[in-house]
Amino acid sequence: MYINGEWCSSEKNFAVHNPASGEVIGEVPDASLEQVHQGIDAAVAALPAWSGATAYERAAVLHRAHALMMERQKSLAELMTREQGKPLKAAMNEVKYAADFLQWFGEEAKRVYGETIPSARSDQRFLVQKQAVGVVAAITPWNYPISMLTRKLGPALAAGCTAVLKPAEATPLCARAVFEVLHDAGLPAGVANLVTVSDPKPVGELFCTHPEIRKLTFTGSTAVGKHLAQAAAPQLKRVSMELGGHAPFIVFDDADPVHAAKGVSLVKFLNTGQACISPNRIFVQRGILEPFLATLESRVAKLQAGDGMDPTNSIGPLINEAAIAKVDRQVQDAVSQGATLHTGGSRLIDDGLDRGCFYAATLLSGVNPQMVIYREETFGPVAAVIPFDNEQDVVAMANDTDYGLAAYIYTQNLSRALRTFEQLNFGIIGINDINPTSAAAPFGGMKESGLGREGAREGIEEYLETKLAGLSI
Ligand code: NAP
Repeated sequence: MYINGEWCSSEKNFAVHNPASGEVIGEVPDASLEQVHQGIDAAVAALPAWSGATAYERAAVLHRAHALMMERQKSLAELMTREQGKPLKAAMNEVKYAADFLQWFGEEAKRVYGETIPSARSDQRFLVQKQAVGVVAAITPWNYPISMLTRKLGPALAAGCTAVLKPAEATPLCARAVFEVLHDAGLPAGVANLVTVSDPKPVGELFCTHPEIRKLTFTGSTAVGKHLAQAAAPQLKRVSMELGGHAPFIVFDDADPVHAAKGVSLVKFLNTGQACISPNRIFVQRGILEPFLATLESRVAKLQAGDGMDPTNSIGPLINEAAIAKVDRQVQDAVSQGATLHTGGSRLIDDGLDRGCFYAATLLSGVNPQMVIYREETFGPVAAVIPFDNEQDVVAMANDTDYGLAAYIYTQNLSRALRTFEQLNFGIIGINDINPTSAAAPFGGMKESGLGREGAREGIEEYLETKLAGLSI
């Protein structure tokens, strides 16, 4: 753990496993609640100096951290593959994406502008300034174990906030490596603190009730996000919530079915489907269903699962046994209700894969609203295809979910693309594009997918208060 600029241990440790082999790859301290208090106290003590530093001074630390993270890109990626499972190439991309937030917000720190507002009174002037929210508590998930940290710490530190962060239990080694970068970049003691714990509940409660914490930023499941938002409500703490998704991927019959199927095969199986913006419901207009399915089936059948350190593998393991059970339950339910299983559909156990949590890349078609997979976030390597007849129907079907994070549209008709974009109730929409994300672009969801945005100009606003001065002259 990293508290007040020092690396520290605890009375107890917990083990970290490689999900591809089950092997123990390290252990980290299991913080006592007293140590979490120490992390918060350190952030409180560091706040005046850090928020009082110039934006240029804060930016310099973030730029050094960006450079160091890129210098360490390969070793960080290898650690991520061993701890979280994604193939090395995807881990390299994630480290670059993570470093981008440090650079982007280092630049953005210098653009926290105020304004003057005309008054109705001739003897009055209004002056608006922005200031740091204060001490921030952050809770992050395991599926993007480096970029989810910098997407929060980048803007928080740029704005002048100090922070205490609890990473997911499954990926504390990646979190530690991020804090090594910050330490080596010269971040002053106490500005960012890391506490690793095996039981998240008491820490979550402390983050939500500690009077000195002014903001909670969380990425994870909708169920936990709702619970934390409720617990933070009595003190009216600011909250940012990046929660679950159930992305529709809509392919209209004027799109090239081969190109669209290629897009699905690339984005759906990224991170073994363990992404909040992963397409979960693939709506294909009936006229092009056949060529679309033929292309997708041949591509999915070729996806090879295995240890992400081997470059021939494009699918890594799921994070744990519970994830395997959830995916299998959704697949078996769909098949038992009449869905067609084109390929996959079971756990992989041959050639040593039984030591890890591997599930075959799976393609289902004929999925309908009665099936669990139609309603529930999948978080696994299953492409579920649903036919549709017209634009009006598909917009209604796509919006028929409590989630509102990402959506995708494939069409060659510009008017249809814009009409659909405007009617879909999702925060991030790819139009003939499978990667609508960047440090420069606002990321976040509508409805039960969350509150607030990360990245972009909006990302730093989440860590700023607006302060007004009314002056009589
Ligand atoms: P999760 O179970 O909600 O866990 C997320 C984090 O919350 C972990 O650090 C976890 O700690 C912690 N946590 C769990 N219960 C808690 C409690 N009662 N109090 C305080 N903290 C608690 O979610 P996950 O399974 O790790 O992540 C997958 C979910 O995240 C999916 O739904 C996915 O869509 C969503 N996600 C959203 C985004 C986005 O930007 N919208 C990005 C990535 C993932 P432990 O690890 O110790 O349990």
